[in-house]
Amino acid sequence: MYRITVLSGGMGGARFLQGLKHGIAAGRLPRAEITVVANTADDLWVHGLKVCPDLDTVMYTLGDGIDTERGWGRREESWSVREELAAYGVEPTWFGLGDRDIATHLVRTQMLEAGYPLSQVTEALCARWQPGVRLLPMTDDRVETHVAVADADSPSGQRVMHFQEYWVRLQASVPAETVVVVGQPESTPAPGVLEAIGGADVVFLPPSNPVVSVGTILGVPGVRSALTTTPASVVGLSPIVGGRHVRGMAEQMLAAIGVDAQAGAVGRHYGSRAAGGVLDGWLVDTADAGQVEEVEAAGIRCRSVPLMMTDPDATAAMARAALDLVGR
Ligand code: GDP
Ligand code: CA
Repeated sequence: MYRITVLSGGMGGARFLQGLKHGIAAGRLPRAEITVVANTADDLWVHGLKVCPDLDTVMYTLGDGIDTERGWGRREESWSVREELAAYGVEPTWFGLGDRDIATHLVRTQMLEAGYPLSQVTEALCARWQPGVRLLPMTDDRVETHVAVADADSPSGQRVMHFQEYWVRLQASVPAETVVVVGQPESTPAPGVLEAIGGADVVFLPPSNPVVSVGTILGVPGVRSALTTTPASVVGLSPIVGGRHVRGMAEQMLAAIGVDAQAGAVGRHYGSRAAGGVLDGWLVDTADAGQVEEVEAAGIRCRSVPLMMTDPDATAAMARAALDLVGR
């Protein structure tokens, strides 16, 4: 059986996976076992619960439990617990957990406290949701993205906060000066992650955030070198279209690491495998056809095709184009 591994964030990665599964079911893509390595650097503890936004977005999306309007959390959600917590004046009020969603976090937290690693907890949660993929956290260790913003009132001139506070409370409305992935240097890949990269036919970098989704997965020691050396083809799809992120805050995150918010620049940032980077191929949107040449000059095969994931058909066509690009 053909083996596909996808390094995924939340919403962009989950939509891509939905299209990939759709394309396989429709016979437009080769039948394949899919392994998803999901970013866990967005994870946080809130009200005593361990919340894993990207794992849950993938699990709920592929398990048909997602709220499709919002793009995260459970469908038919209610918010009684949030209202009660607010009535107590308990912080943080900016991170809302829905009632149904809380059940997931309760199960996860109990299992973690009983000593199970996150990878086993995720497997247990997936027994209910049946996402049709093997879903792995990038690591079982605690790794957290923190963001520094300017703060004139602070003696250092900066204030550092969890990525979720930057994204959810501040809505990425002020520039991020630095991104620090706390705990990453000491982390190790979760069981199965390196095998999933080394044993794949194709590894996809879906249109996920290049800094705080794919970037954090690549930063787990061992992952980047597994990509550099795998016999698989590695192909990515740009989350930047026409110089803008399609949704989210990739522009702000790219600015923080000094990479232009351009499809070609992101491809060059990932780099060619021939030159120690991670890509064999990179797809950019037709709006960015003018950047194909600069990517190819960097030793990465590149083509421009429509990259808007408007529906599973369009997304399956993107996956097909990515396989064609690397000759798979
Ligand atoms: P998050 O963890 O929920 O932020 O999700 P990801 O990191 O997986 O994906 C976020 C990225 O997906 C953003 O940078 C978006 O620009 C990108 N994205 C979302 N929808 C689309 C789309 O339809 N096409 C493309 N090319 N990128 C998209
Ligand atoms: Ca995320």
